[in-house]
Amino acid sequence: MKELLQIKDLYVNFRTLWGIAKVLNGVNLTIHKGEVFGLVGETGCGKSVTALSILRLLPSNAEVSGKILFKGENLLEKSEEEMRKIRGKEISIIFQDPMTSLNPLFKIKDQMIDVIMLHEGLEKERAIEHAKKLLKAVGLPADRVLNSYPHELSGGMRQRVMIAMALSSNPSLLIADEPTTALDVTIQKQILELILDLKNQYNFSVLLITHDLGVVAEVCDRVGVMYAGNIVEITETEELFENPLHPYTKGLLSVVPDPRQKKPLKPLRGSVPSLINPPSGCRFHPRCDHMKDICKKAKPELIEYSSGHFVACHLYGGDLDD
Ligand code: SF4
Ligand code: MG
Repeated sequence: MKELLQIKDLYVNFRTLWGIAKVLNGVNLTIHKGEVFGLVGETGCGKSVTALSILRLLPSNAEVSGKILFKGENLLEKSEEEMRKIRGKEISIIFQDPMTSLNPLFKIKDQMIDVIMLHEGLEKERAIEHAKKLLKAVGLPADRVLNSYPHELSGGMRQRVMIAMALSSNPSLLIADEPTTALDVTIQKQILELILDLKNQYNFSVLLITHDLGVVAEVCDRVGVMYAGNIVEITETEELFENPLHPYTKGLLSVVPDPRQKKPLKPLRGSVPSLINPPSGCRFHPRCDHMKDICKKAKPELIEYSSGHFVACHLYGGDLDD
């Protein structure tokens, strides 16, 4: 089986004081074994909500429907106890800011050993050995780091610690939610390279969430572009950059400053829509230069336009022949 994770028609609504926010509007995507799948889009488009849905960590005001098949089993039908076993063991997550996940009051040793003992059922001595091995694998001086408090480490080192902890149970899927956004450029590059190295070594898949197309270009095998709760395009990374189909993707690519050409920034017009009263039909229509009548009425489905290249736009569905 090539597919590790399949998300099918995932809808997530949040009940809020202001009304119902329709945050995911039928997300469909597949992550293959051993690949790095990038999920890209502007802040608030639903990338993190997608990640938290997979782990079933959404807040209690969320209403979820659809299917999330992991190794063929629907995570949305698992009990809380079954999910606890899957989280951290089968699917791990790292976030932008490791400080939110590390306890400032305890040495790294105490935090790592606890996680390893819990997940792996190891004795303390064995857990310490395992922790050292993992810290070395992420390029850290194991003894020194184990005896440090989080604030004694740099941001890059803390993120390496989080990666080591995420890998401690040998997961099949690592979700990395903006893992390098808080780091400076050189450290970013090192962390991304580290994730790639470890992926090749340990053979897990990566769901890499980012708003940075440069990061996508560097590390992702395939990419899903999200806009306002929908996946609007999925394809291989090279194909996305060479032959983007969706007007939103084209817009995103045109705002990426090309360091060689010094192209001026051309921002997309308009702004990300409200998810409480989202635009009808194609949610991108108020910002789209190609908008036709049907775009206001019908939501475009994600179709395979050419081999492995999926797009959700009426320009490619044959609906605009008139
Ligand atoms: Fe633009 Fe219509 Fe395509 Fe939406 S469906 S991106 S509005 S052309
Ligand atoms: Mg986010």
